[in-house]
Parts: sequence; C-alpha cells; structure tokens
Amino acid sequence: MSAQSIIDQLDTLNREDPPTYDVPHYLGNFRHKCSGARNISKPIDLKELYIVDTEETVLTTGETAVLAVVARQGKCPKCGQTARSISPHIVDSAVRPPLTGRVSRD
Ligand SMILES: [Zn+2]
Repeated sequence: MSAQSIIDQLDTLNREDPPTYDVPHYLGNFRHKCSGARNISKPIDLKELYIVDTEETVLTTGETAVLAVVARQGKCPKCGQTARSISPHIVDSAVRPPLTGRVSRD
C-alpha cells in the first residue's frame, strides 16, 4: 500500500457510510442538536479511527516510515446521527501510535 491507499480507505468509508457531521481528527466529542433528546445540544463521543499502512513509505528526508491515518468517529445513541473526520491526518506510526484507554478506538 501507500499513503494514498490509506487515505483512500478513509475516503471509501466516508463515501459508503457518509457521516452526518465532519469532525476534526483531534476532537474527543462533538455537540449536536439531538432529535432524540428534544433538540437540545448533546455530545457524540468520538473514538479514534487509526488506519495503518501495510508497507513503509520513503519520506522526502530519505528515511522510511510506516504511515497511518488518524481520524475520529462516533454515533449518537439517542438519534443515530454520526460524526467522522473527512480530511485525513497523516502521522508516522512510530512517532504517533494509536491512542489507548478511554479515548481509544472502538
Ligand atoms: Zn443525537
């Protein structure tokens, strides 16, 4: 694979299952007007979506790195609206590994 292929994986997911809201890759939750709770503002908890490349990429510095796409996604349990990052955030997986714990992946 390549950096483009991990970006394509996120694009495919967003095309096949479009989120209600586009959220930045760093948010922990996203408030929305919830139709399941009398249209008041409710948070959607966002978990990390971390897609790792299967092979190394040669960087412009000449070094190699295994790249990953970092995004966030979540779904409101009351109304079913969804949130996911549309724009990929690319990281070196050795420098920025997947999160663990409460804010980790689904
Ligand atoms: Zn809701």
